[in-house]
Amino acid sequence: MKVLVTGGAGYIGSVVVEKLVAANYDVVVFDNLSQGHRAAVHPKAVLVEGDLSDPEVIDETLEKYEPAAVMHFASYTLVGESVEKPFLYLRENVNNAGNLLECMMNHGIHYFILSSTANLFDEPEKMPISEREKIVPGSPYGESKAMIERMLYWLDRYHGFRYAALRYFNAAGATESYGEAHHPECHLIPLVLQVAQGKREKIKIFGDDYNTPDGTCVRDYIHVADLAQAHILALESLVKKGKSCKYNLGNGQGYSVKQVIETARKITGHAIPAEVVARRGGDPDVLVACSDAIRKDLNWKPEFPELEKIIESAWKWHQAHPSGYQNS
Ligand code: UDP
Repeated sequence: MKVLVTGGAGYIGSVVVEKLVAANYDVVVFDNLSQGHRAAVHPKAVLVEGDLSDPEVIDETLEKYEPAAVMHFASYTLVGESVEKPFLYLRENVNNAGNLLECMMNHGIHYFILSSTANLFDEPEKMPISEREKIVPGSPYGESKAMIERMLYWLDRYHGFRYAALRYFNAAGATESYGEAHHPECHLIPLVLQVAQGKREKIKIFGDDYNTPDGTCVRDYIHVADLAQAHILALESLVKKGKSCKYNLGNGQGYSVKQVIETARKITGHAIPAEVVARRGGDPDVLVACSDAIRKDLNWKPEFPELEKIIESAWKWHQAHPSGYQNS
């Protein structure tokens, strides 16, 4: 089966491509390389350099490669940035997904996997958060994913689309070959590891006055390889059962920013100086997933649920790739 992966040169996309190739799928990566890296594209995947704002290029790609399914990762993904620049998210993320879905519809391609987010849930009534929780996005980023999920609802209802919306909590960690390298970096774990590598002086903690045991935000970190596995299971299920689904993906265990830093200190043996600064916009106190539904329906079981293992894998990758994908 052939799968088109938008954003397949990015962090999560590159690991999903690696797993798809290992599971014998044919993979076409569609990426404008604005955030992704050529070196992050698996050598067995075809790379099409293209932009989702251009329906003609999407159309030509679908015409040429005839994928049976699409996995969509290419988007802006930063909560803080989305608060500062809402239209990158509310217009571009949404338009780009609309272009992709419309072209898929024109080509009769109906299987779609959306990289969605825990930021759909700003004020959950119950923690851990289940798929039954009301959607109240926490930022323009979360809102953009909620809007795309709504597009999918209508395409499922009237146009035969079958989709999986996978709502990631905090993707982290690395495989041996592929890891996290954003420019500029703004995610907690890679930043903490950059301090350990001596590339930064200290880590800034965004607020310690949240309603959590140590005052810093609590998140559910999930290994990127476990996320990737969930995508393959979801695709198999769409094809086999023909039924759309939405799943939350996390380990069900929350760690505070301070706990992440402390764990990284142990793993790297570095002091990792930290300083508390002002809150970042759009961050809820606690986000922890209940992933019972995907465990039960698709038999998904995380292989690396422990924070230590997750940070250890990221540390290994950072040491092996001290300049990220540059010069590789
Ligand atoms: N965070 C922080 N300092 C940083 C980067 C992130 O304190 O330099 C916090 C952030 O406020 C959030 C958590 O770490 O509570 C995880 O943030 P990240 O950007 O890694 O992922 P997100 O939760 O935004 O998907």
